[in-house]
Amino acid sequence: MASTIDRTNQVRWDLGILYSDIEDPQLDSDLGEFAGMVKRFSVAYRGKLAQLLGPAIRDYLEIEALSGKITGYLFLRESTDLSNAAVKAKHAGFQREMSALQGEHLTFFELELVQLGDDALETWYESDPIVAKHRPWVEHLRVFRRHFLSEPVESALMKRSTFNAGSWGEFFDEVEADIEFNFRGASKNLTEMVHLLNESKDADERAEAMKCVNDGLGGPFAKYAAQTLYMVAGSKAVEDRERGYAHPMEARNKANRIPDSVVDVLHNTVTTLGGSLTRRYYKLKARHLGLPVLRWSDRNAPMPFSDTTVIPFDEAADIVAASYESFSPRLTAIVKSFFAERRIDAPVLKEKRHGAFNSSHVLPGGKTVSFTLLNYLGCNKDVMTLAHELGHGVHGIIAGEAQGPLMFHAPIAYCETASVFGEMTAFTFLKDRLIRSGDKNSLLALIVAKIESTINTVVRQIGLSNFERRLHGMDASYGAWTEPKKRSVEELDAIWLQTARELYGEEGEIFTYDHSSHLWSYIPHFHGPFYVYGYAFGELLTQSLFAQRRRLGAKFEPLYLDLLRSGSTKDVVELLAPFGLDARSDAFWKDGITVSLGALIDEAEQMSPPSRGEI
Ligand SMILES: [Zn+2]
Repeated sequence: MASTIDRTNQVRWDLGILYSDIEDPQLDSDLGEFAGMVKRFSVAYRGKLAQLLGPAIRDYLEIEALSGKITGYLFLRESTDLSNAAVKAKHAGFQREMSALQGEHLTFFELELVQLGDDALETWYESDPIVAKHRPWVEHLRVFRRHFLSEPVESALMKRSTFNAGSWGEFFDEVEADIEFNFRGASKNLTEMVHLLNESKDADERAEAMKCVNDGLGGPFAKYAAQTLYMVAGSKAVEDRERGYAHPMEARNKANRIPDSVVDVLHNTVTTLGGSLTRRYYKLKARHLGLPVLRWSDRNAPMPFSDTTVIPFDEAADIVAASYESFSPRLTAIVKSFFAERRIDAPVLKEKRHGAFNSSHVLPGGKTVSFTLLNYLGCNKDVMTLAHELGHGVHGIIAGEAQGPLMFHAPIAYCETASVFGEMTAFTFLKDRLIRSGDKNSLLALIVAKIESTINTVVRQIGLSNFERRLHGMDASYGAWTEPKKRSVEELDAIWLQTARELYGEEGEIFTYDHSSHLWSYIPHFHGPFYVYGYAFGELLTQSLFAQRRRLGAKFEPLYLDLLRSGSTKDVVELLAPFGLDARSDAFWKDGITVSLGALIDEAEQMSPPSRGEI
């Protein structure tokens, strides 16, 4: 274990391709360059887009690449050095200055672009290859044409954007970090308490921890949380009304390139079929834990057959590369470049950001770089996280090369495609390896962990989304929208419990919900409205895609590479058509749930000893 950690500690990323450090004079000179570029841009193109669209898009690409390099670097630099005040100050100062410059000089661009006449645009599409290439980007912007406000208003909103409802998220991180939970005489933070809930094998200890968390979140914290959520929903409602959106999810759905009807089908199918599979799984879990009814604190409890094998980082790297080798030499080469070029930061360190992420950038000049942050300890889950983040990485690189800085980011709802796909390849690899070794306990542990993570990504996120829909004014039967209301902590508690019961069963059926009523209060995603359903969408879409890999055999790789290459240039229907899949149909989502969650639960049930009633 010690040597595993020692080796992992050496896996640090090298950001040198961006800047040498925050003192690098290039950083300040790039900010100056950025300021000059945006000012020249506005002088050259304001009011003249019909005549100069081609050159404007070319210059805009350069601006986008430079701003991505600067902000990308500062974010990455901060991510491994969170307590460094100088880095924090530099990051915040640059952010402020850059949004002010963007607000002042660039706001006109999108506004004027969406107002261009069809004929003028058509001429540009036909005569200029760069404009033609960026047609999907232009057309996607034009979807929002009637939702733009006047330029002075848009400019003011842009300048104020670092202080908008989303900044509650930042405030929250800080307040949340300060909450102390007094558990059995020791002071613990929220991360430590969540860790205890996931790791403790003692059901009573877990229940006591859950009560401690719920009590700790209640009181002042839940009041802050209720007020911030009201401000998020209320300010959004005002802005949505001004922009002429018909309902609170419309802007997000349009940005995701998903029709409202598909979003509804997703929510309904997950709530019904996903909910019933979830209840079936937790019945099995209760049996394994030897408990007649689960308490909410048992939801993420470890199973008695947990796998404690520690996989050294180098082996994880080999596993991930080998799992890609099974279907794509091109992707394998990119995956290997992450290790060779030191694009990964692996160890668990106090001053690092929690969790894991990938961040890809198209630099000035067109080169694409991608960095991955992990907190690697060596369990199976960490190997799958590595595969997940490198999935984002290969997606970023392939799409960046093909589409450039404006169109390489896939929309939120399917930016998880390559990552979930990568995770599935690593899961399949680890599973086959355990089947060959005959280690049934570890195999069951792996399958069960995958079931729980799928439930948490699909079913739990739709539960969160249902709560969020209610928060923004949807009625209890999810049929109609009204204005968001100011709700007390007790009212939010009641909605939270109702949305949980819809998926996890009535009180006492599978779970009891004691001491879980305030858990809505620490979900950071609620500060970025309607983000969470994208997780469920991406996971199920990718599971359906993954199932096609077997069916299509050698035909799969080129289709998959095309999908990755398309970045944000296609909507979900176009994206899936080459695979013979159609996200508009109920059947698509049902199949997505059945081939993933359904199949895994079948396997777990078959591998589990029969319950007493069945003997
Ligand atoms: Zn991801």
